[in-house]
Amino acid sequence: MSHSTLQVLTDNAKLLKASASKHAIYGVLIAVIAIVVATCMVSFVEHGTVSIDGVIEAQKTNVALWLLNLSPFGFAVWGQYVSNVMAFQAGAMVVDQTNELRAQAQAIERRATYEVTHDRLTNLPNRVLLQDRLDQAVHLAHRECSKMAVMIMDLDRFKEINDALGRDQGDRLLRQVAARLKAAVQETETIARSGGDEFVVLLPKIASEQDALHTAINIGNALKAAFDLGQSRLDVQASIGVAFFPEHGNSAEDLLQRAEVAMYSAKQEKSGYSIYNDKQEKNSPRRVTLVGELRQALEQDELLLEYQPKINVANNQVSEVEVLSRWRHPRHGVIPPEEFIPLAERTGLIRIVTAWVLKNALNQLGEWSRAGIELGVAVNISTQDLHDQELYDRVTGLLAANRLDASQLVLEITETSIMIDKDRATNMLQRLAGSGIRIAIDDFGTGYSSLAHLSVLPVKEIKIDKSFVLDMKDNPKHANIVRAIIDLGHNLDMRVVGEGVETEYAYRELQRLRCDALQGDYLSQPLEAQQLANWVLDTSRRPKVQRI
Ligand code: C2E
Ligand code: MG
Ligand code: MG
Repeated sequence: MSHSTLQVLTDNAKLLKASASKHAIYGVLIAVIAIVVATCMVSFVEHGTVSIDGVIEAQKTNVALWLLNLSPFGFAVWGQYVSNVMAFQAGAMVVDQTNELRAQAQAIERRATYEVTHDRLTNLPNRVLLQDRLDQAVHLAHRECSKMAVMIMDLDRFKEINDALGRDQGDRLLRQVAARLKAAVQETETIARSGGDEFVVLLPKIASEQDALHTAINIGNALKAAFDLGQSRLDVQASIGVAFFPEHGNSAEDLLQRAEVAMYSAKQEKSGYSIYNDKQEKNSPRRVTLVGELRQALEQDELLLEYQPKINVANNQVSEVEVLSRWRHPRHGVIPPEEFIPLAERTGLIRIVTAWVLKNALNQLGEWSRAGIELGVAVNISTQDLHDQELYDRVTGLLAANRLDASQLVLEITETSIMIDKDRATNMLQRLAGSGIRIAIDDFGTGYSSLAHLSVLPVKEIKIDKSFVLDMKDNPKHANIVRAIIDLGHNLDMRVVGEGVETEYAYRELQRLRCDALQGDYLSQPLEAQQLANWVLDTSRRPKVQRI
């Protein structure tokens, strides 16, 4: 029993003992009164009067009174005994219940951790856990100069199967595939579902390439027997791409990208599996090759930043500008963040993207400040950034280097990012907020954050997701959600920002609903730095705020 548990037991015992002792004292008093009354009655019966002599006589001669005289001691001893037993029993009950509650809380916590690291459908590790294991395996392989392999497996024609048989049957198939894959790999190997019908196998330590090919063949064999989906039996093939460390890449993201290139090659050649070679790159889908080019794009400054103002309703001033990145690709033209940010997140490159964006955006803010334009900047950060231990030092270092105040920086995080590994994310947010940086929750209303958790986070602002604002005029449900989010934000003492303000209607309606700040094309589209500075200085281009 731990020290604190013993303390609880002792404290409870003391409390109950005190209460039981009080009742034992009452018992003793009643017994004493009974003795006095009985003695008087005996004296009265024997002598016809109650006198001192009669009472003494009765006490000396009456055997029944002798017995009655013992009763206060009996009450005292019995009371003490009962109080001890009761107190310890009650104390033990309290301790039992506390332990039970603690065990339940731990189970809930374990379940939550499991849910964020595992795929709900197949119970296999998900992308979050895979990334972690990949990083560890690469680290170890570097240190020990050992070999490792990453394989990506994708089912052939899964989309057709899903469309033809329906989602439920598609899910059933994926569960069966997952079970067979699990049985086909070794304990030390990780098999994860990275999304849709794509699975990743990580072989953290292999003696030779032959080991990996052996696993690839095992997987192919495991899928050979037809899958039983109730009404139908299905033959399913898969394509596997293999990449080796260190030959094909020496980082997690490179290995994943190369394995994916090889997987597409296996699909085209219908060869079952394929090992990466650089000639395969030219036949891969755009998104796969983009991943390979992203790191280089960062080094060659191909990323471009645009800034979109957020306007404070109270004074019609720009509170800060949100920085939005675009990729100016030499062949594909401008690629929007919605295409390349998920790729960067998937491959772990996002940390480098975020570092680049932070550095350039804060330098720009410093430049504006020196030119007499005082602004704040909001930077979007991803889940993995919150788990990057260097984020805090990087951000505070950049603020200091550009002589900026921490309150000039807002970090925008989506709800889902916070919910993945809540403790770590909360910890990082608390450190950042502690230094004066403001935290905003982006795309609010689309994630799964629990209100209880939200209220303990150091969040200063919530941004209503633009999907609700865009059609609030024609969609009463969305209009209600907008209103509810504004009320919720205010009740939690947060600033509420409406994004996606495209029309005069949305602009006026959000002001009427007491939204604190507005952002959207109606005010200004995202602009390059110079244009943004002109926009900020020329207040005549801004719609006038309606005082309500
Ligand atoms: P977000 O953070 O919610 O940014 C707002 C998005 O809404 C931007 O899209 C912006 O151009 C767009 N927008 C603004 N006003 C309007 C409007 O009135 N109507 C409509 N329809 N759209 C409007 P964008 O620039 O394409 O960025 C998309 C998302 O990509 C961002 O959503 C953000 O989540 C992500 N993103 C952009 N840059 C970065 C970055 O540097 N790092 C990270 N991690 N994510 C980024
Ligand atoms: Mg944002
Ligand atoms: Mg948003």
